[in-house]
Amino acid sequence: MTVTENQPSPNLLGLDRAEMERLAEELGEPRYRGRQLFSGLYSHWDLNVDAMTDLSRRFRGGVLSQRQPAAPAIQEKHDSCDGSARYVLRFADGKAAESVYMPDGNRTTLCISSQVGCAVDCKFCFTALMGLQRNLTTGEILGQIYALAHDQGLGPRQRVNVVFMGMGEPLLNFAAVMKAFRIMSDPQGMGIPWRRITISTSGVIPGIEQLAREQLRPKLAISLNASSAGQRASLMPLSRRYPLDQLMASCRTYPLRGRERLTFEYVMIDGINDSGEDAIAVARLLRGMRAKVNLIPLNPGEELPFRPSSSNRVLAFQHVLARERVPAFIRISRGQDVRAACGQLLVRR
Ligand code: SAH
Ligand code: SF4
Repeated sequence: MTVTENQPSPNLLGLDRAEMERLAEELGEPRYRGRQLFSGLYSHWDLNVDAMTDLSRRFRGGVLSQRQPAAPAIQEKHDSCDGSARYVLRFADGKAAESVYMPDGNRTTLCISSQVGCAVDCKFCFTALMGLQRNLTTGEILGQIYALAHDQGLGPRQRVNVVFMGMGEPLLNFAAVMKAFRIMSDPQGMGIPWRRITISTSGVIPGIEQLAREQLRPKLAISLNASSAGQRASLMPLSRRYPLDQLMASCRTYPLRGRERLTFEYVMIDGINDSGEDAIAVARLLRGMRAKVNLIPLNPGEELPFRPSSSNRVLAFQHVLARERVPAFIRISRGQDVRAACGQLLVRR
């Protein structure tokens, strides 16, 4: 059996500037041709290499003989009555992940996946039920934006936010996620400013520390979801490996730029983490930090043993945080009717 048979050609999408310069050299062209290819591919959010007429036909042909730019195929699209849409996107090997389109006035948020499934096993999350199938590559991460932008008619001139809040734990696929981030935020690349890109983590401390050392990095959100170490360990088993006190310590030393704040997400689960005492404990954890809290009532489902907190409980929790001078926002998840909401992403086999 030859391994090359039926293998998809390697993806052009996902190569960074240096790799494109090298590709140009391999094809006998000067390095700056690689830079032109880089901005041609990324700055228009368009995969059509043949439309890059500033590149010679010979060079374009050479590039395409080695690598084809590919975005994932739209396998399913579910339009929500609130205007958002959930996509199931299929990659070249047949695996699928989900991305969500959320328009909001003159800006749009794209929620993308970093892995197929997730290994972290949070007890309130649907994606956890899939287990981890594999990491996504840089090209597959960027390809989600290309697929949604193409389908929704979005381009580089629109105000687009990208959040790594789909499937998977982005800091457990660090290299591919950061490479995608650098291409997205590069002004000659996709041109999305770092302030509009957010990585959400369940609290992988080594990843947070690695991110802190990066020159260029997106904004960071931490999924806190509990008010004490014991509560967190029972909801998020990863918290046994990366304990709450150590997580808060690395958040305290995390470098913030200008008016940047850390975001803490708090999924509100009826009778589990939503009491007044929980709110006071959360305020204590965050005391003195430049932080804000997003309260997300749990998105329920038959597969989960939990119910969402009532809106009274959510409001009371927000009130306590406000009294303790912790800014807190209630985030009603979009797309619940099409299972596009936070933690509802699950591709059944
Ligand atoms: N793995 C990363 C990013 C993806 S999860 C993380 O955990 O941060 C994105 C957000 O959805 C997280 O804040 C998570 O706490 C939240 N979430 C998970 N399951 C949920 C559910 N059933 N209802 C509401 N939010 C949920
Ligand atoms: Fe993974 Fe995030 Fe879901 Fe936890 S909440 S299982 S880290 S996707």
